[in-house]
Order: sequence, then structure tokens, then C-alpha cells
Amino acid sequence: MADSLYGAEQARGVWVWLEHDGQALAGVSLELLAKGRELADKAGEPLTGFILGHEAGSLAEEALSRGVDEILLGDNPLLKNYTTDLYCAAAAEAVLKHKPNLLLLGATPDGRDLAGRLAVRLRTGLTADCTNMEMKPEDPSLLLSEVTGFGGGIAAIIACLRHRPQMATVRPGVFLAALSAKKSGAELRRFSPSLEGVPRRVEIVKRSIGAEVDITKSKFLVIGGRGIRGDFGLLRELAGLVGAEIGASRVAVDEGWIGKEHMVGQTGFVTRPKVALICGVSGALQFTVGVASAETVVAINLDRSAPIFESADYCVAQDLFKVLPPLIKELRNSK
Ligand SMILES: Cc1cc2nc3c(=O)[nH]c(=O)nc-3n(C[C@H](O)[C@H](O)[C@H](O)COP(=O)(O)OP(=O)(O)OC[C@H]3O[C@@H](n4cnc5c(N)ncnc54)[C@H](O)[C@@H]3O)c2cc1C
Repeated sequence: MADSLYGAEQARGVWVWLEHDGQALAGVSLELLAKGRELADKAGEPLTGFILGHEAGSLAEEALSRGVDEILLGDNPLLKNYTTDLYCAAAAEAVLKHKPNLLLLGATPDGRDLAGRLAVRLRTGLTADCTNMEMKPEDPSLLLSEVTGFGGGIAAIIACLRHRPQMATVRPGVFLAALSAKKSGAELRRFSPSLEGVPRRVEIVKRSIGAEVDITKSKFLVIGGRGIRGDFGLLRELAGLVGAEIGASRVAVDEGWIGKEHMVGQTGFVTRPKVALICGVSGALQFTVGVASAETVVAINLDRSAPIFESADYCVAQDLFKVLPPLIKELRNSK
């Protein structure tokens, strides 16, 4: 691999790319700020929140109160909405000027897009979809990123030894956003990225907001898999009675029974509900990583030997079509 554009000896600082929609900072960015603070303290390096946008001053001010040492705000009217070329050019300019040691991004559609393009531009490595990150105890400037490999069967630890910045993406919900106060001396610094000559291959014609479902924030999830045989109406009825959101396994999404914004797991979302009621899901590792942080897991499955029962607190070895209708009836009567 070619050398990166700067080396480990010049690199310093933990950067978190702060994604936003012009109105609010993305939840995953706040989660990464909390993890970034921990990593920066271990490395003995400053934590910087890095924002690109236009007239995003109030978001920068909000981020400034999240335990960072500084916020770096790149402002240009062309950065009002995310586009790959312009954001990549502005981010590369800032990174090459300040030479951070780490650059962390949310594994959102835009975060993944920016991270890949930027890693190539900077000639460095990128660890995508990390499930954990630590600084190496014997060398606290080196990031050890954990990812699942071979379809979720193994956990691999990846280190980027020579190339800088050390880049990683993390999906929403993997880390918790901590409540933190403004650090004394925390500074807001502004810069104007020079975007002259950067191709503008994408024009935003219209913005439309997709389905308003965010299962990463749900306190109660009712989740269906192949065993539900497409009858999500049954799950929706139950969910409506207990104030739950609907989740689904990948099979249920691939079958077209429900949208992918409901998918739980490695490809889907990592959730942290208080209660997850899991119906007709076998419990493949790629699914269970999405409910590993649930406080209480209740699983219904016909098959007594289904792996889902290994990670469930309450196991109902029954036909879900025999269990759910009387439960719904009972709940309806008790209203
Ligand atoms: C790289 C990779 C990434 C992946 N990412 C994800 C991911 O993010 N999320 C995800 O879910 N999967 C993911 N998968 C797929 C995963 O490996 C499984 O194939 C999938 O989770 C299985 O879905 P399922 O449990 O609904 O279906 P199945 O494995 O077919 O299980 C259906 C279960 O329903 C039970 N059942 C059937 N009828 C009834 C009934 N009447 N009452 C009660 N129980 C019943 C059966 O006993 C069975 O256990 C990924 C796979 C790969 C390789």
C-alpha cells in the first residue's frame, strides 16, 4: 500500500465527524463524541468535533458543550447539503492541515460514503462497522478496532500501524451518548474550505424524509422473523397495545414483508430496548448482535433447540400463532 499523506509521528488528536441535517446533530455523532472522549483521554490527545455545513453555527455551539476540546466548523454555502465530492474535498483539506491521529464517522449512508472516499483520498486505512474500539494499552496512540468477520462468526481486531489518520466507522447504537458538560477552554474554530474546481456532480433537487421509524431509540420492540410468515399485522396489533415499535430479521425484510428500517442485526440496526419480544426468529449471530444490549429478551419459537433461546431471558417453546392471539385478546380486554 502507498504511504499515507502524513505519518504517525506527525499525527495528533481524535476527530469525530459531526453529521447533521441542518437542524440537529445525528445521534451516532453524539455517541461517537462520548467514545471519542474516552479514546482521546487514553491517548492523551485532544478531542475535536468536526462539522461541515452552511450556517451551522448553532449546531457547532451545541456540540461544544459535549466534552470536546474544540469544534472545527467548515462553512461554505456549497456544503449546505451533503454531497460526496464537496464534503470529501473540504474534509481532506482540514485533515491534511491539522493531521489528526484518529477520524471517526457514523456508519450512516453519508458517513459510509464519505469515509470510503476520504480514506482513498488520504491513502489510509478504514475499519468499517466497528463493534468496539480501544487504544492499545502499550501504545496509546494506536487504535484497536473490533469488527465481526466471516458472517459474524469471529471478532477480528484491526490496527492501522503506519497510515494516518486511523479511520473507523461505527453504526448507530453501538456506543451510548453520554451527558457531558462544556470543557473549560473548549474552543470553536472556523475555516472556509476552498472548494474551487471541485466537481459538482450531484445536485440536490428535493429532500424527502423517509419513514419516521428509528428502532435504535425504542424502549420496547416486538420483532418478527421468518416464522411470522408475513403476518406483521399480528405483531403490529400487539405492538400497538403495549406501545412497542416493530423490528424484523433480515429474512423478513428480504421477503418484502417489512421495510429495511425495521431490520435488527449486523446489517440492520443495533438496538437497546428495555424489552425485546422476538417471534419466529432462529437467533443467528448476525441477528443477535442487534439485541445483545436489550435488558430483557423474550423469545417465542417452535423449535426448543433454536439458538435464540440461548440469549433469551424468557423462552416460550410454542407456536407463535397459538401464543400471540390470546395474549392480544387479554391485553385488549385489560384496556
Ligand atoms: C453478512 C451477513 C449479515 C447478516 N445480517 C443480518 C442482520 O442484520 N439481521 C438478520 O436478522 N440477519 C442477518 N443475516 C442473516 C442471518 O444469518 C439469518 O439468516 C437470519 O437472521 C435468519 O432469519 P430468521 O431467524 O427470521 O429465519 P430462520 O433462520 O429461517 O428462522 C425462522 C425461525 O422461526 C421459527 N418458527 C417457524 N414457525 C414458527 C411458529 N409458527 N412459531 C414460532 N416459531 C416459528 C423456526 O423454528 C426458526 O427458528 C446476515 C447474514 C450474513 C451472512
